[in-house]
Amino acid sequence: MTQKQTTTANKISTYLILIVLIAMSLSIVALISAVYAYTQNMIPPAGFLAIIGIFGIVMSIVSLHQNSQRSAAMKIEVPKVMTYIECKNCGTKISREFQRGDFVFKELDVCPKCPEHKQMITGVYKEIKEKEKIYEV
Ligand SMILES: [Zn+2]
Repeated sequence: MTQKQTTTANKISTYLILIVLIAMSLSIVALISAVYAYTQNMIPPAGFLAIIGIFGIVMSIVSLHQNSQRSAAMKIEVPKVMTYIECKNCGTKISREFQRGDFVFKELDVCPKCPEHKQMITGVYKEIKEKEKIYEV
């Protein structure tokens, strides 16, 4: 589930990067034309083209930067679902990542401490965002 969402985010950013790269190359063309116009002593069009070129490059860098920030925020927003497992006999508590088919009161494998008792799922919960941040560091 987490992997799927990350791939979608990557696809969007790849598309955006492509558009930004086109805009950037057009801006570079405008700058080259500006230099050419300047060498031909056509100062007003040279200045105009230079402004377009610089503006385009600045806009491209800004949108790339914003996009990278947005995708980073998207990654943090994906909540991790955890499953809480408990042995009613010895009270051993474990938590692991949620797996498909997990539900509360579902019986799992026998407890590693007491082989005659089965472990049971006692809770399924979303991990707190602050905790996730610690994991990323
Ligand atoms: Zn036990």
